Amino acid sequence: MGAFFEPMSESGQFRLVTRGPGETQDLGRRLGELMEGGELVLMVGDLGAGKTCMTQGIAWGLGVVEYARSPTFVLVSEYEGRCKLFHADLYRVDDPLEIEDLGLDETYWNGGVCVVEWAEKGKSNFPADHLQVEITATGAEERVVELQAGGPRHDELLGRLKGVVGDSSDKAMGV
Ligand code: ADP
Ligand code: MG
Repeated sequence: MGAFFEPMSESGQFRLVTRGPGETQDLGRRLGELMEGGELVLMVGDLGAGKTCMTQGIAWGLGVVEYARSPTFVLVSEYEGRCKLFHADLYRVDDPLEIEDLGLDETYWNGGVCVVEWAEKGKSNFPADHLQVEITATGAEERVVELQAGGPRHDELLGRLKGVVGDSSDKAMGV
């Protein structure tokens, strides 16, 4: 399970296993609760891995009351929580220039939280200091979730998440 983005040796990593969508949502919620605005989450993983599921949890953690679905007709959905949440899905995007046109950098520079599904389609469009979340299905209900911080800001966030959900690797959520 190679990370799509170049790992930085000094950056933090966290790997855990979820068993069922509720646990992935819960992980996202805990992450969202720790966010302060300005975070960038790059989601990597196949169709049905659980990217939207985890984004839903992040939305709840940010106090969003709407149900976050994958943006279908627009590439970016905007939600109102403690801060703004921008949820982008690059599934239908082929040209990296199209990603640039979305202006996602404005969202996290201006204090919003930005979550991008299919971020592997535009890895060069994003700054190094982001949180990569790679989700891999290892069973009908089992997912391996690998979080990797690419810089100090998100390393600090990841450190706090570890403090909340436990520091052991392969730790099952909710056990
Ligand atoms: P993606 O956005 O990556 O395409 P979704 O979040 O839309 O994926 O869908 C994930 C699907 O996998 C959902 O149908 C969900 O119920 C199912 N699922 C089963 N187990 C898990 C799990 N542990 N975590 C997340 N989703 C799971
Ligand atoms: Mg999705």
